[in-house]
Amino acid sequence: MSKDDTRCSERMNIAIDGPAGAGKSTVARRVAEKLGYIYIDTGAMYRAVTLAANRAGIEPTESDELGAIARRSEVILKPGAEGQIVLLDGEDVTDAIRTRDVTLRVSQVAAHQQVRARLVELQRKMAAAGGIVMDGRDIGTHVLPDAELKIFLTASVQIRALRRYRELRDEQKVPLDQLEAEIAERDRSDQEREVSPLVCADDAVVVDSTELNIDQVVEIILNLSRTKLAEAK
Ligand code: C5P
Repeated sequence: MSKDDTRCSERMNIAIDGPAGAGKSTVARRVAEKLGYIYIDTGAMYRAVTLAANRAGIEPTESDELGAIARRSEVILKPGAEGQIVLLDGEDVTDAIRTRDVTLRVSQVAAHQQVRARLVELQRKMAAAGGIVMDGRDIGTHVLPDAELKIFLTASVQIRALRRYRELRDEQKVPLDQLEAEIAERDRSDQEREVSPLVCADDAVVVDSTELNIDQVVEIILNLSRTKLAEAK
């Protein structure tokens, strides 16, 4: 058995892509916990670069400046007691990257080739040893095209908005219809950008979570991963 086969049968990589609010992060984290794998939230990396750009007064249209700040910012993801911790140049920005300011700009920042090139390079390094569950928009199509298991997790925009609405703390609440419009706009921007748009990989398994709860989705993915592991033996 070659070194690569060993990795495939013991510690594969799982890519989970899909639109905003489909439950990717929660599902990916739980799947990783169950398998003893490392969870990587690539959206958090785009958010961290967006925060760095906002703080530096860089507009989401300034391609070269965004590329430069993506290259010089140190973005580190670390497992923490309550989930993943995000460090930007050593500062804990786990909460700061979830603010509305960042959410409203992140898709514009993520559309720039130079930003993506830098973050994709880091993501591939993190996945090199296998045993990773990575969620995002372009993981199965671009970042890890050889991932052993690819999931495209989706749900209706109405249910995604409702789930997000319920997660928001009181001080962050915006009307549900506004939230739905913002999510639809982020979907559109992610699907229509030129570089690595959000599309379902040909070899991904589509899971529609509109009528499923988190436990059910996790179970579906764990079953698929068991099948893959068995096949690889
Ligand atoms: O996953 P999350 O909703 O936090 O991602 C925030 C944004 O980051 C997405 O709307 C998308 O614009 C961008 N993103 C991306 N590619 C990824 C992960 C996230 O373009 N792999």
